[in-house]
Amino acid sequence: MRGDLGDRLGRPLKDLRISVTDRCNFRCRYCMPREVFGKDFPFLERGGIMSFEEIDRFAGIFIDLGVEKIRLTGGEPLLRKNLPDLISMLSMRGVEIAMTTNGVLLPRYAPALSAAGLDRVTVSLDAIDESTFASITDSGHTVASVMAGIEAAESVGLGPIKINTVVKKNSNEDEILDLVERFSNRDIAIRFIEYMDVGTTNGWSMEEVVTAEEIRSIIGVDEQITPDKKSDVAKRYRLSKGGEVGVISSVTEPFCGDCTRARLSADGRLFTCLFSSKGVDLLTMMRAGSTDKELAKAIETTWSNREDRYSEIRSEQANTPNRIEMSYIGG
Ligand code: SAM
Ligand code: SF4
Ligand code: SF4
Repeated sequence: MRGDLGDRLGRPLKDLRISVTDRCNFRCRYCMPREVFGKDFPFLERGGIMSFEEIDRFAGIFIDLGVEKIRLTGGEPLLRKNLPDLISMLSMRGVEIAMTTNGVLLPRYAPALSAAGLDRVTVSLDAIDESTFASITDSGHTVASVMAGIEAAESVGLGPIKINTVVKKNSNEDEILDLVERFSNRDIAIRFIEYMDVGTTNGWSMEEVVTAEEIRSIIGVDEQITPDKKSDVAKRYRLSKGGEVGVISSVTEPFCGDCTRARLSADGRLFTCLFSSKGVDLLTMMRAGSTDKELAKAIETTWSNREDRYSEIRSEQANTPNRIEMSYIGG
């Protein structure tokens, strides 16, 4: 069975993103605006969230179905208590384990994460300028603390590190060159991401998207580098002065044709697209006593019926209601 599961558009299931919490210590305006995600927001209850044993069991089933890489995300994954214990369990499964984080808790946890077997981290950082960073993340955390996180991760071998920068108009276009300057010549891959219409709370509009074309022209990229893998979401470009950058053009140059990613929310629902409005409740099945075989069958059925390609047909669907929030589904 391993590896031969294809969806309706012939795409295999290769990557699994697991959200370990829907909570976060940032309130990025484009992801968890504070006026929505305030103290009364109904975050998931503790008992409704997958335990480490449940996550590990799901991981085993997905790996048997062909998954080669697992990425832990959220919310902010480092808010999940004892996360290195989960990494220890997953690292026994023989696939690459990565994590996406806002980085501020890395100085505290990087050594334990590395010792537990985490392979690499992607750190999100949208600005180098402290006041721009503060207005985007709305959190009281600082660029300096993210930089300390990046250094902590590097020093324990959690590299090569990737940096994710979401670019939003009239917010951080001015930061692009400074970020390139800071990172492109180190052993760090910086990737600029078009601002996406995930969820329904960020008030997204196309006018606020800085397009991949605009990003490339601000940076002045040279030639494109041939991707290592077809499913790489970033297009990589060489810089004339040395180093490279990536651009993730989810809105204007979509890549659904190569999308091999499934997502498991912290409450154990399977989503086959970032823009889905409903998921398959695998955790309830597991807790009701379903066997691994039954759970595998449910995943297979869901994946083989998958025909998602939201970004390719965005203009026809822009008003799809109830799209799941990024902090819940896992970015
Ligand atoms: N909290 C962690 C972090 O920020 O790295 C992990 C979860 S976060 C949802 C994962 C990634 O999604 C981050 O790099 C973030 O910048 C990105 N993201 C969130 N909302 C987005 C949006 N509307 N458009 C594009 N990227 C977005
Ligand atoms: Fe938190 Fe990450 Fe969303 Fe920012 S992008 S609010 S750090 S989950
Ligand atoms: Fe994959 Fe959906 Fe994004 Fe297309 S829109 S690349 S199918 S997650």
